[in-house]
Amino acid sequence: MVISFPHLGNTAIAGRALFEELRIKCITPEAVSRKTLEIGSKYSPEDICLPYKLMVGNYIDAINKGADTIIITGSCGPCRYGEYCELQRNVLRKIKNDVNLIVIDSPGDIGKEELLNRIKYISSNSPLSKEKKIAAFVKGIRIINNIDKLEKMLRIKAGYEIETGECKRLLQSCKKELMDTEGIDGKLSMLKEYYRRALKVKVDKTRNPVKIAVIGEIYTIIEPYSNLFLEDKLMDLGVSTYKMLYPSWWVKNTFLKAVKLDSLKIKKYSKEYMPYYIGGHGKECIGEAVIASTKGLDGAIQVFPFGCMPEIVSKSVLPNISKDRNFPIMSLIVDELTGEAGYITRIEAFVDLLERRKRRCII
Ligand code: SF4
Repeated sequence: MVISFPHLGNTAIAGRALFEELRIKCITPEAVSRKTLEIGSKYSPEDICLPYKLMVGNYIDAINKGADTIIITGSCGPCRYGEYCELQRNVLRKIKNDVNLIVIDSPGDIGKEELLNRIKYISSNSPLSKEKKIAAFVKGIRIINNIDKLEKMLRIKAGYEIETGECKRLLQSCKKELMDTEGIDGKLSMLKEYYRRALKVKVDKTRNPVKIAVIGEIYTIIEPYSNLFLEDKLMDLGVSTYKMLYPSWWVKNTFLKAVKLDSLKIKKYSKEYMPYYIGGHGKECIGEAVIASTKGLDGAIQVFPFGCMPEIVSKSVLPNISKDRNFPIMSLIVDELTGEAGYITRIEAFVDLLERRKRRCII
């Protein structure tokens, strides 16, 4: 078995570390880029959403490098994501007949037993004892938690840093070194070292930077290429960025779903504007916007791919939140034709607007 999985932000680092530790051969596809999109688009229905095309691009790259088993996470309700695995299975069959697609879905959707069977099937390819497999899994979770924690801290600190660009450089160098370092323990100690360095980044606490929440469709806000590196651009503009939906949030939430304790805060805050689940992470988007408005943030940016059904519904609800709470929210829709120059201009104009609002309030 040679495993691969599509990129989704920091999950590639944790996934690779986990399979290395389990001693299961694993191929990480190239980082998502225009080339990934071009390859993925060739094998995808024209009007399917952007994450689908990027994932297919990743699969094809991994298969060409020798992968025979692809692992993806499963559905989230009545949107196209629920159909991804079936559609992608058909695509993969056409490319290479013996490629296996394994979907890790939430226990609420496929049942605890089926989920355990799928995990057992994957881990049966590891020569390690049961105890060591569990230990490897726990370390994999620690990697994803720690890198997300580091990223969250640096994205917020970027608004206060004294040396311009220090937080961004530190984050990029950490991700690069993690990909190049062998062994899960080595990765864990490296993360510890980077966290220590991140704590030491000198900040000006008297500064009052613009604070923006990034909300929207989960793949698009987690995978940097699909949002045209929005968070990096906000760092360049000296903005503190806040985001709830990290891969570590998804892992925790999936486990909590089994005991019906998932997204409690989001459910509470979204209830007034969106009482029902509409698929994808539409409800989360609304909950996060309301939470951001209560936490003293200056505004929110919603990002989603063209044609994303749940986020279009959320987009129609967000103006009400914005009006009721005097809280600016901008929506950015991305697809393969999005022009970078226009996209950056919109982000800069929004940050400029928030800065001027802030100054007006201070005066
Ligand atoms: S949430 Fe939106 S982008 Fe994601 S699969 Fe569903 S429709 Fe597509």
